[in-house]
Amino acid sequence: PVVTILGHVDHGKTTLLDSIRKSKVVDKEAGSITQHIGAYQVEFNGNAITFLDTPGHEAFTAMRARGARITDIVVLVVAADDGIMPQTIEAINHAKAAGVPIVVAINKVDRAEADSERVKRQLSENDLLVEDWGGDVIAIPLSALNGEGVPNLLENILVLAEISDFKANPDRLATGIVVEAKIDKSKGSLVTVLVQAGTLRVGDNVVAGNISGRIRAMLGDDGERLKEAVPSMPVEVLGLNGIPDAGEQLVVLSDEKSAKETIQAWEREKRSEKGTISLEGIRYSLESGEVKSLNLIIKTDVQGSLEPVITALQNLNTDEYRVNIIHAASGSVTESDILLAVASKAIIIGFNRRPEPGASILAAQRFIDIRFYDVIYALLDDVEI
Ligand code: GDP
Repeated sequence: PVVTILGHVDHGKTTLLDSIRKSKVVDKEAGSITQHIGAYQVEFNGNAITFLDTPGHEAFTAMRARGARITDIVVLVVAADDGIMPQTIEAINHAKAAGVPIVVAINKVDRAEADSERVKRQLSENDLLVEDWGGDVIAIPLSALNGEGVPNLLENILVLAEISDFKANPDRLATGIVVEAKIDKSKGSLVTVLVQAGTLRVGDNVVAGNISGRIRAMLGDDGERLKEAVPSMPVEVLGLNGIPDAGEQLVVLSDEKSAKETIQAWEREKRSEKGTISLEGIRYSLESGEVKSLNLIIKTDVQGSLEPVITALQNLNTDEYRVNIIHAASGSVTESDILLAVASKAIIIGFNRRPEPGASILAAQRFIDIRFYDVIYALLDDVEI
């Protein structure tokens, strides 16, 4: 499984990532420096688990907005002394919109103020019913700081992976996703790739977006030289002629000359990508029967107006037509909301709320429709089919 850790700021995402990474280096020689690439793999009970080292749902959703399906499991970190906070709810909605199963890490249980039961109750209020509460969401109490409970988390990630039956064929031309890329003064282009299918090998001719090249060398997450990488392995690739964008797909070509054609095809596709998600466009698709639901992200001025807006919208649901509320919260429309809208093909509704300046720019770039209303009936008028 490939795992992303999400949660509210200061709830312990980085500490947990570090704690898991350390469990790996323990048995290595002291002094061996872990090279930092955008992801790392640990072995637990004879199985490998890959962790993406970019905590935060902005990165998660930015990847998804590019069409990259990179995460198999989300670990949602909730600090037991703080409980569920606005970014926790955002993270839950981002994971749900991506259709990725969630394992909850109830963190900081070493603290005197820790209250795991409260966290479980709050989770249930957000449609995440943990096992003690009769649901099927795994919740593991742990302390990222002292490591207690962390092996139990890893064990349960593997259980979930087993149930979900993640598979990939190593015997084909490899494809992967670019996790990050940079230029190094002496080594040139360094591209971190997560292999998704097939086996990536030194000497392969590859294309990622409009960047191409022959793989000169590959380094693992500890900086060790590798000849090949199988699915879910993160590797650093040397030899490309530039830096592709994060989230871009990397593909192996059967021969060198097809690189140019592949890049041309990619550029054609980019140009023809309409990407526009507007209420009118969706109305047309609804009326022509192409789609049956309307995805919405709702932002309101105050918490109190959230509930009536949601209820009024849900009342529009019929057998043929569904209003899907992907995320609803009070506050301004943020860049994170725009990325979620891109990834989920959603329209954003701002109720008595203007967007943040950065969000307006991003919305224009990504062709996202943001609608503003100050009275409910005007909103219902527009959304009703
Ligand atoms: P992030 O913002 O979610 O990445 O949170 P950090 O990992 O940076 O942690 C925020 C703070 O909480 C830091 O001061 C950590 O040392 C502390 N912290 C994280 N995990 C634990 C834990 O299990 N127990 C305690 N007591 N503190 C923790």
